[in-house]
Amino acid sequence: MERTLAIIKPDGVAKGLVGEIIRRLEREDLTILALKMIWMTKEQAKGFYGVHAGKPFYESVTNFMSSGPSVVMVLEGEGVINAYRRLMGATNYKEAEKGSIRREYATDIEKNVVHGSDSPQSAAFEIAYFFNELEIFKR
Ligand code: ATP
Ligand code: MG
Repeated sequence: MERTLAIIKPDGVAKGLVGEIIRRLEREDLTILALKMIWMTKEQAKGFYGVHAGKPFYESVTNFMSSGPSVVMVLEGEGVINAYRRLMGATNYKEAEKGSIRREYATDIEKNVVHGSDSPQSAAFEIAYFFNELEIFKR
């Protein structure tokens, strides 16, 4: 069993897509172990996307991630990291597979509606960044 951190980014919340995205997760049998709404500070967003520090989009993406509330979730399932990344689609919505969340709802390479961890190592860091063990449901 694997875990991943999923985020419905501020653009997804602002567009009223929380229900739609959760419906897709449930339909694909990705189990939600934890869920909350947060409004990241700029500092929290910088720490979260620390691997991108120094890249040209770092300032902008951390401003975006702290621009409004997000929904953060812990998902569990076999191969959930890649399964959820397939559901999200490519970073650039124009290259994302038809039917994926980003292809359907993203409007911008930055404002791309959802986040998902990209490896077991980043999942462990990202889950611990937002949740303590008491907040994560044990099956
Ligand atoms: P995420 O980490 O949010 O799940 P990802 O793994 O598909 O997305 P990353 O390369 O980790 O993509 O980039 C993190 C986020 O930074 C992207 O989701 C997007 O919001 C923003 N971003 C990435 N590349 C660019 C870019 N070239 N221009 C603007 N924003 C970008
Ligand atoms: Mg990433």
